[in-house]
This record gives sequence, structure tokens and C-alpha cells, in this order.
Amino acid sequence: MGQPKMRAIVVGAGAGGLAAAIDLARAGADVTVIEKGDAAGGKMRRQPVGNVALDAGPTVFTMRWIFDELFADAGKDFGEALSLNRARLLARHAWRSGGRLDLFSDVEESAAAIEAFSGPDDAQGYRRFAARSASIFETLRDPFIKDQRPSELEVVRRVGLFDMPAFLANIRPMTTLWAELHRFFRDPRLIQLFGRYATYVGSSPFQTPATIMLVAHAERDGVWSVDGGMGAVAKALQGLASDLGASFSFGRGVKQIIADQGRATGVELDDGDKVEADAIIFNGDVSALAAGLLGENAKRAGKQTPRAKRSLSAVTACLVARARGFPLAHHTVFFDEDYPAEFRRIFDARALPEKPTVYLCAQDRGGANDAPPDGAERIFLLTNAPPDGDISDFDADAAYARALDLMSACGLSLEVEDAALTSPTDFAERYPATGGALYGQTSHGMMGTLARAGAATKLQGLYMAGGSVHPGPGVPMAVMSGRLAARRALADLA
Ligand SMILES: Cc1cc2nc3c(=O)[nH]c(=O)nc-3n(C[C@H](O)[C@H](O)[C@H](O)COP(=O)(O)OP(=O)(O)OC[C@H]3O[C@@H](n4cnc5c(N)ncnc54)[C@H](O)[C@@H]3O)c2cc1C
Repeated sequence: MGQPKMRAIVVGAGAGGLAAAIDLARAGADVTVIEKGDAAGGKMRRQPVGNVALDAGPTVFTMRWIFDELFADAGKDFGEALSLNRARLLARHAWRSGGRLDLFSDVEESAAAIEAFSGPDDAQGYRRFAARSASIFETLRDPFIKDQRPSELEVVRRVGLFDMPAFLANIRPMTTLWAELHRFFRDPRLIQLFGRYATYVGSSPFQTPATIMLVAHAERDGVWSVDGGMGAVAKALQGLASDLGASFSFGRGVKQIIADQGRATGVELDDGDKVEADAIIFNGDVSALAAGLLGENAKRAGKQTPRAKRSLSAVTACLVARARGFPLAHHTVFFDEDYPAEFRRIFDARALPEKPTVYLCAQDRGGANDAPPDGAERIFLLTNAPPDGDISDFDADAAYARALDLMSACGLSLEVEDAALTSPTDFAERYPATGGALYGQTSHGMMGTLARAGAATKLQGLYMAGGSVHPGPGVPMAVMSGRLAARRALADLA
């Protein structure tokens, strides 16, 4: 008789939950994924509009190596599971005050574009910026991104006491991203453009440490468009988990974690069913535990993110529209004039910005198909918003009107045939205990990038995975967190 199989329950089929299910099933565990929604993907969701469906969550797919490794470890090829195209053009940028700039995955191609945009000093600054962000990324990848969340002592141990000064000088946690960018660029539009990378982790460039420059490297290192959109990534992850033997139960929520003598022993579902397990991975937001949404036993297992530390929410619009007057790329960003005011409004006044930055994803352009569509096309818009959807009713129509106004000032007119808006309140309902914050807690403050909880919780047998825990938000990082949770659970039970 061999050892009995480890029984694992994964609560939630978001990116982190799916990755945990894959690694646990690969290790021979008996894995059940319980998801209250009707499909896998979590925030990677599709929104029906008119006769079509759009990606209504993540649209920028980066850090492909994380998915390659996940599949390769299971003896599979990620590139064969779905069709991916590497983008030469990362994003187009336009300003109300004038000017357009394309950024490319090739440093020299971007430097040439920046030279034409704002002169040789900024082009040289960009080369230095690209080198510095790559160096931060390389420094942090193995000991921090790919490893369990360290305590402060652990940081010293991993880096080495004597190497600490050089480490800190390199990753620059003591200065804000906004301040640091002035060392590289003169043109304020470039500082705005590169400062925007803080929003990829739901944060303000005025409060996030310069360490977050690593996001710029992750993007420059490769943005991929996926045939079938991000929904296809979720399907590929679910497919691999199923092939490895994981089973999925959709449309069923977990209402409480069952515990015995300080150890999680199973879950109770909304319909009263109980399922026993040796390990439980929770893929919802860490705040849901402390808020008691998974019952009394799990309440002490996670800390609630204080309102002041919640990351950005958004007002999004999924459109079917005819676009004229501006050459949209797959990813286009429209900037207004007063960037500091946008973050003061959101994080201090807790109000919608009066002049929001607009991110636009033209989902029928780019990839293998570079030609603009003939008629109406699928367009996703996103503007930043305060994460207070649980206590305030924000006027999504007003945010949408401001976005249209900015884009029109930049030359783009949209003849909209169908539209579906999502407000912070909608996000707060979809992602309980978050207030609509889409990326867990902010990365504000000196140690902000390492401030998230790790995979293990105070309740033995209960682990966390997802964008609200280490190493942070974004689909690839959430996948990494799922892998770390699976690794921790397997090590504990070994
Ligand atoms: C509008 C938007 C734009 C974004 N843009 C990008 C981008 O361009 N690039 C990028 O990389 N990232 C982007 N992100 C962030 C990225 O989508 C997330 O960080 C990532 O998908 C989070 O994955 P996760 O593992 O935390 O799970 P989630 O996606 O949060 O899913 C968690 C799942 O758990 C389920 N669940 C929770 N509680 C229970 C329960 N009690 N019982 C059963 N099921 C439960 C939920 O239904 C959900 O399906 C964006 C997010 C949003 C919303």
C-alpha cells in the first residue's frame, strides 16, 4: 500500500488558483477547484456586448516565461497550448497637449522614437532607464519574485549583510518612482508615461518606490497578443490542470473553512455540502478572510487591507464602436495635462479624477492582424478610480464622458454602437472585501513592493494565492503566487 493521496481544495479558479491546481495535481495530489463563477479565469473575464465578447479584465500579457516554466514543468509546451504573437509595438501614447510616441520592445527603436519626440538627451536617458529597470528586475527575480515572501530578516539573509548597501542602491526603495524618473528624463510627458507603470500594480507613481521600474522591464521584455484573447490563457491553464487530473466545480461558492484543533480540514459550500482536505488554497482577495467571508476559523488567517492601502479600482467600458481620426494601436494610452491631480483625487479626495488618463485596447487590431477593421470594432477602455465601491457610488457615466472628451481632443472620434460600463461598485461586488481594489494592496512606501502577505497563513493547512499576495498583482505574478502556495503546501505535508 502506498501513501494515501494528498487531498487539496483550491477555492477560486483565477490565475493563482489555476496555477496552484496545476502544480498540486502534477505532484500527485487529488485536486478539486471550487469556483463560484461559471468559468475559469477570475478577473480574466469576457464581457458580452452586442453580438460579441471582449476581454474585460487584463489585456496586457507579459512575462511569458512564467507560463512557459509552468507548462514545461508539467512536460507541456505553452506555445502549443495557444497561439501567441510577440508585439513589436508595445503601446502608442498621445497627449491632450500634443505629441504622439510609440514605444517598442527593442530599446534602440524606442530610443530613436524618443529622440524624434523630445531630443537626444531623453533618448540617452531612456537607454539608461531601460538598463536600470532590467537590472532591478534581474536582481529581484530569483530571490524575491520566484521565492516565498521574505521577512525583513530573511531579506538580509537572502541578500547578504555586506551586499545590502549595493542591493538598496540598485533597487532604490528609498526614492519614489516619480522622483527617480527625473534622473532619466527632461520632458514631463516622458515622466508621466513611465510613471504610469506604478498603476500596473494599482499604485500611485508619487508614493511607490522606484523599485517598481521593474514593471517597465517586464513589459519591454515582451508583450504578447493571444489569439482568442486572455480568455484563451484561462482556458489553457484550466486545460492543463484537467489533463493532470484536477477536477472543477463551477457555480458553487465556499462559505466557510472548516477547522479542527487549529488546522484547516475542509470547506463548507453555499449549498451546505462539506468537502474534506489536507490543504486548502484560497484564491480570493486576502481581505476576504479577515472580513469573515470564509467563516470564523479563517478570520485570523489573513489581514484585512486598510482602506488607505487599497490599490486602484477602475471605471471600464467595453464598446463596439467605429473609430475614426486616430491611428489606434492594439494598446493606446491617452494622457491629460495634470498627472499629480489624478492621484490626489483618487487617493486623497477619494473621488473620480476630473482629467483621467485613458487606456484603450483595440482588441481587433495588432497581433497577426495589423490592419484597422473595416467597420465597428471591439474597444476596451479603462480609467483609474478610487477603491471605495463599497461605500461610495461613483458616476461611471461621467468618467466615461471624460474619457471620450480626452480621446476626442487627441483626434479620436468613436461612433459607439454598444457599450457596457463597469464601476468600482460593480468591482466591489465581484471581488468581495476589496471595495473594488483590483490589485490587492498598494505598493506605496519604502517596503511597499514586499509588503504583501505570503502563501502561508496563521491557520495551518490554509494557504493563499493570487494578486493580493506575494509577489503581487498581474496575471503572471498571480500564477507565480499559485506556484508558491502549492510548493508551500506540499513542503508542509511532506
Ligand atoms: C480591469 C482589469 C485590468 C487588468 N489589467 C491587467 C493587465 O493588463 N495585465 C495583467 O497582467 N494584469 C491585469 N490585471 C490584474 C490581473 O487581472 C489580476 O492580478 C489577476 O488576474 C488576479 O488573479 P488572481 O489569481 O488573484 O485571481 P482572481 O482573478 O481574483 O480570481 C479569484 C477567483 O476566486 C473566486 N472566488 C473568490 N472567493 C470564492 C469563494 N468563496 N468560493 C468560490 N470561489 C471564490 C472568484 O470568483 C474568482 O474567480 C487587471 C485586472 C482588472 C480587473
